[in-house]
Amino acid sequence: MLNWNLEVMEKTKQTAEDKTFIGGKPNIPPEIAIPQCSLCGEELTFMFQVEFPKGHDWYGKTMAMFFCTAMFHDEFCIPEFPDVPDLYGVDITSDFLNRYARNFKVIIFDSEKGRVREDYKEKVAFKRLDISSTNCLNDEADFVLGGDPIWIMGEDETPHSIDGKELTLLLQVREDYLFETIESAPLQATINNEFCQDHNYYLFAADRIYFWGVKDQSSPLVYISVQAP
Ligand SMILES: [Zn+2]
Repeated sequence: MLNWNLEVMEKTKQTAEDKTFIGGKPNIPPEIAIPQCSLCGEELTFMFQVEFPKGHDWYGKTMAMFFCTAMFHDEFCIPEFPDVPDLYGVDITSDFLNRYARNFKVIIFDSEKGRVREDYKEKVAFKRLDISSTNCLNDEADFVLGGDPIWIMGEDETPHSIDGKELTLLLQVREDYLFETIESAPLQATINNEFCQDHNYYLFAADRIYFWGVKDQSSPLVYISVQAP
């Protein structure tokens, strides 16, 4: 698959036409509830969403990412690892996927069904993600759609499938990427549930994040893995 480097733009005002962005209010179907953390019960923080472009295996779909910033869930500060020695070539079960998303939630929907959710109170500052189509994988890009994984710990940890259905790499988020918050947003809980003292949130310990999706988008399942810088 082609790859697209996404460029984070300056803070600006969100419009109903925005489909690929960080922060602000999610643009997701009205019938989908804003998700809650199954560990602490707090509303999850909307981090970003991406409308997959033409040429991407998931063209026509949009993926929105939510994460708990209200509490620090030590054991789950990165996504749970399936019970395997290493990820390379493994088959992940949908049973595992159903239980591993505790303090985060990935929502997949048909792009045209999204609406700006005024029932959500913004925490992360709104910034557009500008898509440029390219075949050149850029290690420095904050978000990369499609393409090949950039492994920062050396080893290849490409999982094979979910319930036997072959996976493709949907998206990567660069390691150490911080999500700037608006001034009035609560500070993020971190280790020992003390609070970060700056106006940024991080996702999954600010590791490099890999979103794997079933190639055949008629069963749009997502598995998330990480590598630490
Ligand atoms: Zn929580």
